[in-house]
Amino acid sequence: TLPTPVDNQTAFDLDRAHVFHSWSAQGALAPLVIAGGSGTVLWDYEGNRYLDFASQLVNVNIGHSHPAVVAAIAEQAKVLATIAPSNAVLPRGEAAARIIERAPEGFHKVFFTNGGADANENAIRMARLYTGRDKVLSTYRSYHGNTGSAIVSTGDWRRVPNEYARGHVHFFGPYLYRSEFWATTPEEEGARALHHLRRVIESEGPASIAAILLESVPGTAGVMIPPPGYLAGVRALADEFGIVLILDEVMAGFGRTGRWFAFEGYDVVPDLITFAKGVNSGYVPIGGVIISDPIAAHFDERVFPGGLTYSGHPLAAASIVATLDTMAAEGIVEHAAMIGTDVLGPALAQLGADHPLVGEVRGEGVFWVLELVADPATREPVSAEMMARIKKELLARGILPFTMDNRIHVVPPCTVSPDEVATAVAAMDEVLTLVERA
Ligand code: PLP
Repeated sequence: TLPTPVDNQTAFDLDRAHVFHSWSAQGALAPLVIAGGSGTVLWDYEGNRYLDFASQLVNVNIGHSHPAVVAAIAEQAKVLATIAPSNAVLPRGEAAARIIERAPEGFHKVFFTNGGADANENAIRMARLYTGRDKVLSTYRSYHGNTGSAIVSTGDWRRVPNEYARGHVHFFGPYLYRSEFWATTPEEEGARALHHLRRVIESEGPASIAAILLESVPGTAGVMIPPPGYLAGVRALADEFGIVLILDEVMAGFGRTGRWFAFEGYDVVPDLITFAKGVNSGYVPIGGVIISDPIAAHFDERVFPGGLTYSGHPLAAASIVATLDTMAAEGIVEHAAMIGTDVLGPALAQLGADHPLVGEVRGEGVFWVLELVADPATREPVSAEMMARIKKELLARGILPFTMDNRIHVVPPCTVSPDEVATAVAAMDEVLTLVERA
């Protein structure tokens, strides 16, 4: 029999002996041991507690172990724990209906996947079949998942060792703090980024481009809030050239920005919406594509050549129903918006004002980033060693951060309380002071 972990070491040793980890050389890993969680709080087997200001991989929007969602999964498990996607089952239909309720006019169908990567994979497949074209345009500063086309759509380094899929072209999106366009205002950045995209479309040949795939708010790449008019301008370019616009709402959707969908804040309606993460906070893996009517109708008489054994898994579907109903009943999306404007935004702005290390503070809702620089004038990113030290010091103070490159992503659950924000920000203040002195 396997030992039951009663201390951290047992769990740690089993992991290191047998678990092969993501995105890592396996040799020197030291995973944090977690035993349980509730709301924003996680704990280990030895009584250490952490405030989860990462929401794990920015997916636990409703907080850990919400009793309503846990109960819905348990109830569904008693009735029917699994079923093939070809059957009609109530939780799957109800989950799709709940999602459609929040989608814009003109969307009536949901294709369920196992997560975010295969949501993008299938959205790309739909766009290619719908347009009869091949190429997919996406930005260098993006992450879209780790399957064939999703990883090649991704802009960052993770694309390069995985370039198996064909037809992917990258361009630069707006990012005023490190502008590729010598812009000095958000308006200038947005307009020049649109000009650049137009030139890429023209140069690639519009008739070869099936889709533009964008995160509504690029998340892992640094929470870059789109400048005024940018996404609407991308929509106009897509319309002009007959290109399908896919907005990836995997990280930004379902409350993270203080809205059900991030794009609702930017005067744009896509043709396909991909989602995962916050839709059920990852209690059971699920994602999907929300399909606009013309693209859905395209497959009325033509076979859609895609599917997955666990598409619309009943436990995941039941957890979506409970999650979305609970988020609505408890005003969780509105709470996330309030936290952003009244609590977290002002507190992080104060950190930015107090600490020369903080080059820029960006975000909305519970979707924020502190971009750290060694020199505010040159904006040179802080070193990897500095980031490792900051992460270690935050963990030592009971704050679990999401760090990426030279950034601290401040991304707690949508349910985070003002007191928890105050605790986390005080710890960040202390740690920034400490490393600045050093
Ligand atoms: N798209 C975005 C914007 C993401 O942030 C992620 C994951 O971080 C994905 C897609 C991939 O989702 P998954 O890891 O569920 O496949």
